[in-house]
Amino acid sequence: MVILNYTLHLTPYTKMTLFGQTLEQLQTLCLQEGFPKFTAKQLCDWMYKKNVTDIDLMTNLSLKIRARLKEIATLGRTPAVNCQTSVDGTKKYLFKIHNSKFIESVYIPTPDRATLCISSQVGCKMGCRFCVTGKQGFHGSLTAADILNQLFEVDAAIKKTNNQASIHNVVFMGMGEPMDNYDAVRQTIDVMTAEWGLAWSPQRITVSTVGIIPTLKRLLDETRCHVAVSLHNPFLEEREAIMPVERAYPIADVVKLLQQYNWRGQRRISFEYIMFRGLNDDIRHASALRSLLRGLPCRVNLIRFHASPDMPYRTSTDIVIENFCNYLNDHGIIATVRASRGEDIMAACGLLAGKERP
Ligand code: SF4
Repeated sequence: MVILNYTLHLTPYTKMTLFGQTLEQLQTLCLQEGFPKFTAKQLCDWMYKKNVTDIDLMTNLSLKIRARLKEIATLGRTPAVNCQTSVDGTKKYLFKIHNSKFIESVYIPTPDRATLCISSQVGCKMGCRFCVTGKQGFHGSLTAADILNQLFEVDAAIKKTNNQASIHNVVFMGMGEPMDNYDAVRQTIDVMTAEWGLAWSPQRITVSTVGIIPTLKRLLDETRCHVAVSLHNPFLEEREAIMPVERAYPIADVVKLLQQYNWRGQRRISFEYIMFRGLNDDIRHASALRSLLRGLPCRVNLIRFHASPDMPYRTSTDIVIENFCNYLNDHGIIATVRASRGEDIMAACGLLAGKERP
């Protein structure tokens, strides 16, 4: 576990952020400030269990401690600046991040529960050719506070409305590559799963990655979250043409790493496969995919490509997707076609742009 010296965050102009800090980090802060050690646990209770957004409302802390906390820190919660709702009930929330950049989170409800798709970076460095976020380039990584803020703020907004399913799962599939911002993502997962935090089961969290092997290995060793790998093509050269990361971390090596872990229990590995017309959707690809994943207890999610302006790609036809899916299932690979959600508000997979809209 990383223990940050909070003084590193302090400059004459900025205050540290309490939200998103782990119990250990808050204990370090309390030690340095001369607060009783149990103050750290009290802070966790207020922020993560009681969802308090104002230091003044932390009424079991002495007035002196509250005053000092306000001098050196802010809580760090920021409501969304905009929310768009799709015809299918999906909601896209826009958050403003420090330097005037924007990120998006997508709330995807079903009748009894909802999934929240959260962002881990502003833009992305990975440069996947089919992705609107990738086209923007990279503008910075989010802190654990920025990432957690999306969950707490969307949850609070949902609770204010009637008949909205509460958030049951979180997927790191929004803007950015989570394994390119490992420490903040790991810290977020710590807060979400620790007893002093939200105490979620790690099986309610899925981390998606293009397969950055060193940090993926850390995630596999240090957490019990589900993992989703963006695969999209089983052939090296063809994958590299749409996903530059293939050059550094070939998908074959990613699969070899995954094969070293136990996927027969509750933890799940899945592969995301966007269907591009004429590029990766024939039986030659399905057959190579089957060979690549042979022996790995996994699921393949087939995703219709969501076209956007300036992109040369088109989605495969429904019948081609169905045939591809049937081939995999007939040959021992569990495959499903994932329903598209929120396409009309540019909230579907690969369409998050983080732009402010009226
Ligand atoms: Fe980044 Fe994911 Fe888009 Fe690739 S698909 S550019 S990893 S956000």
